[in-house]
Amino acid sequence: MSVVVAKLGTSTLVDEEGQLRTEVLEARVRDLVRLRRLGYRPILVTSGATACGLGRLGIRERPTALPDLQAASAVGQGVLFQRYLELFRAHDVIPAQVLLTSADLERRSSYVNARNTLTRLLDLGVVPVINENDTTATDELTFGDNDVLAARVAILMPATWLVLLTDREGLYGVGVDGAPGLIGEVPSATHPEEVALADMGGSGLGRGGVSSKIAAATMATGAGVTCVIASGRAEGVLAAIASGHRVGTRFAPAERRESAFKLWLRYAKPSLGRIGVDAGAAQALRRQGTSLLPVGITGVDGAFAAGDAVDVHDAEDRLVGKGISGYSSDDLRAVAGMKSDEVRRVLPDAGTEVIHRDQFVLVESPSPR
Ligand code: GLU
Repeated sequence: MSVVVAKLGTSTLVDEEGQLRTEVLEARVRDLVRLRRLGYRPILVTSGATACGLGRLGIRERPTALPDLQAASAVGQGVLFQRYLELFRAHDVIPAQVLLTSADLERRSSYVNARNTLTRLLDLGVVPVINENDTTATDELTFGDNDVLAARVAILMPATWLVLLTDREGLYGVGVDGAPGLIGEVPSATHPEEVALADMGGSGLGRGGVSSKIAAATMATGAGVTCVIASGRAEGVLAAIASGHRVGTRFAPAERRESAFKLWLRYAKPSLGRIGVDAGAAQALRRQGTSLLPVGITGVDGAFAAGDAVDVHDAEDRLVGKGISGYSSDDLRAVAGMKSDEVRRVLPDAGTEVIHRDQFVLVESPSPR
């Protein structure tokens, strides 16, 4: 039976005083239980630990320093999960606390372990309740409020539905009559920039905001998962969506699927620098899908470590694509333009490729209207 990943955001779950909105949690737990009784396999991705921890610590204003947010999250996670335990217990359902980071989903071994554990939990009739492990990772603290994490979990399983529950009914745009209205359907393969431009709703999509929702939806649909943005306060919303009712804004799944890794790289991994390449290297990347070698590199901007994402620009400064650099920016500056045997003399331990072809995506621009 199909897996449904539902994500609940901070502003839906926690009030301005840092107190959990118990009636919202109660209603969504009821929804998840109903979904399970209908035979679906629900997974909840929940935020709210940081806001709840700030409330518990008596800190009224959200700090900006990451260690402060991480500490608050560690305090709040226990409070949050305890509430889920109580609420599920009232329905005789057992939840499981699962804390994940995006690095866990990048390493093959931990990716498989996460999927095995989640599958086993679902087989046992348990509802996994997932949050980011904010102590070791900060991706969702800085971008997303778990939107992207939820998409990655949906791709991992794979889920049939990813439902991003938020404070709005969905995305709003201008209809044919010129009046603003709910965007019911986003056709498959719509470029994320086009969706963002169409959305007239402004704020109200929670802490993650519109860009992380669209990034998450684009990733999920790119892997064949249908994504819906809907109100986290409406009764029975999950069962309605899973049984095919039109609720909120629905992003249709793509026909041409891309790997989970490339979707993440394209839409969710921020670029920390840029590499300039000569005409030959740009053409090889665009036409032949080859790896990028030091010899084709003409310039390096920014400070990045090996493993970070970087943008690649051609000699005319047009963006070619984005990839994971196998070199730090300092190492790359030392070997830019060199042939492989020279590189080996300067950096004996360095790998052959600056960006491996499997870790590179060509940038697709929005289709002309
Ligand atoms: N994982 C975080 C939490 O549950 C994300 C939310 C945030 O950025 O405040 O608190």
